[in-house]
Amino acid sequence: MNKAQSPLIDCVIPPGEPWIGIVRAGQVLRIVDLEGNQAVDTLFYNAVDGSEHYSAQDTICAQGNIYLTTGTVLRSNRSRPMLSIIADTCGRHDTLGGACSAESNTVRYALGKRSMHSCRDSFLLALSRDRSGLTKRDLPSNINFFMNVPVTPAGGLTFADGISAAGRYVDLEALMDVKVLISNCPQLNNPCNAFNPTPIRVVTRDNA
Ligand SMILES: [Zn+2]
Repeated sequence: MNKAQSPLIDCVIPPGEPWIGIVRAGQVLRIVDLEGNQAVDTLFYNAVDGSEHYSAQDTICAQGNIYLTTGTVLRSNRSRPMLSIIADTCGRHDTLGGACSAESNTVRYALGKRSMHSCRDSFLLALSRDRSGLTKRDLPSNINFFMNVPVTPAGGLTFADGISAAGRYVDLEALMDVKVLISNCPQLNNPCNAFNPTPIRVVTRDNA
């Protein structure tokens, strides 16, 4: 399918739900934090070869910065540019904190939190529905758009109050055809969602 035939996307993802879509090279993906301070756990895959995927390590090394914002080029595990952040009204996005999971809920909060919904489970559910053959071995470190995870001088991670707000967005220009995997985070136990998960919107456009 060439760019002219690619359907454009405009959908709202409810809190706690996963989503998968294809963004073609040259298209721009906008993710909108509709109500503010929502964590959007996201992974990108080469649309035709899922063994090539977003790499936090390659991205951080190439830009020499642990935070993602305008100007960041998201790189793959083959160090190839996948997408470029071309606009960002939030200002900072995390790629160190990882996706919440049953295991991390148990370790960070309480054994009784194990059965709560998590981004890792949402990722796996979406991949199983997608029938592309990608499995849990294909879940590398992800991006948490709109999530504020400052690193302390001692090198620790802090899950801090968000710096996003209603209507803030990030625009990503695809530099190759990419499969986008999103978990709109259901987390209720830390301030990344202001303890209140809310919907987000994903929109694509052709970059004129
Ligand atoms: Zn989560």
